[in-house]
Amino acid sequence: MKTVYVDNNATTAIAPEVLEVMQPYFTRDYFNPSSMYDAARSPAEAIRSARETVARCLGGIDPDQLLFTGSATESNNAAIFGAVQANPARRHVITTAVEHPSVLEIGKELERRGLDVTFLPVDGHGEISIDAFVKALRSDTLLVSVMMANNETGVCYPVAELARIAKQTDQEIVVHTDATQAIGKLPVNLSSDLKDVDLLAFSGHKIHAPKGVGVLFVRRGCRWRPFILGGHQEKGRRAGTENVPYIVGIAKACELAVQNLADEQTRVRGLRDRLEHELTARIPAVEVNGRDAKIRLPNTLNLAIHGIEGEAILFELSRHGICASSGSACTSGSLDPSHVLKAMNVPFSAIHGSLRISLSRYNDDTDAERIIEVLPTIVANLRRLSPYWDDANNCLQI
Ligand code: PMP
Repeated sequence: MKTVYVDNNATTAIAPEVLEVMQPYFTRDYFNPSSMYDAARSPAEAIRSARETVARCLGGIDPDQLLFTGSATESNNAAIFGAVQANPARRHVITTAVEHPSVLEIGKELERRGLDVTFLPVDGHGEISIDAFVKALRSDTLLVSVMMANNETGVCYPVAELARIAKQTDQEIVVHTDATQAIGKLPVNLSSDLKDVDLLAFSGHKIHAPKGVGVLFVRRGCRWRPFILGGHQEKGRRAGTENVPYIVGIAKACELAVQNLADEQTRVRGLRDRLEHELTARIPAVEVNGRDAKIRLPNTLNLAIHGIEGEAILFELSRHGICASSGSACTSGSLDPSHVLKAMNVPFSAIHGSLRISLSRYNDDTDAERIIEVLPTIVANLRRLSPYWDDANNCLQI
């Protein structure tokens, strides 16, 4: 049975083109790029070229503004703690209630350290209010950190507009965005619409590069201090011997992501829309979380399936060779239901039955057909056993 992998917001398969360009740096060109002998020139040159490639992909920016890191989590930590360290006179941070834990937990930590943190709420569509953002800005606001796109629902946030407003209000405010789910799915251009963004983070493993490599953009002139200290690598802004093959890999993955953006926005969106349409038509009492948001990632479908547990659905899907994910309890080692769906006020019975399907360029019609064939039966069978489901009337017990 062929595996149908539709959990691409969690991680992606490594593209063969990416693996191919990485290979020589594990074997032939393994040298430390900082070494003085001629042999080390090849890995040093590979890093320089990778930085140029990523810079081109992000809107033709100056490559010196890019650092390679170990993950998006590290990039977010470096971005936020680096901005906080560099601006000790300011004590207020604005973020949202639906950030990935690699931003949300930093917000909570900053509160413990005595800073004021505004976690902007979201409405039932998963969106934040620009008015609420404007009202939240203060004379001592140090940092704004709003993600470009949410990993659970795919809801996208107006980062370019928020950045413009923040800078018009006060040039000194540092603007950070977690772009981990945006790269390859939305245009990301730091020279045009995102020109007011100072710090931008993403990782390789969401764009068909390996896990364990990330990028942090730090705009020239931004008040920011290095977070990881040690050697002189990355001009002293991120110490540690460079992970040459992975850096080469993430650059190739960025190049492919830009090349495939049109496919993502047409063919992949079409597959997602087909799944959404057919699954909501065949399954009673199902809603789409984030459906009415102004912009949603083209690859993401988050279903609220009332009356059953997401884990049970995942287990049954897995028996049919389908890998998806759930926003409900226990999926990622946590006992709490999704903070994102809770912030959207999704009802209890639907948070627990949430199912996320996230596609990539490697998915096709046959994958969608398998899911459309299998999921409605799984849901019907589980509902038959559920105390929350009225089987006679085919609706939720109230
Ligand atoms: N931000 C977002 C929006 C994400 O989806 C993820 C990964 N789930 C991360 C940050 C963390 O990425 P990494 O695994 O590279 O640390």
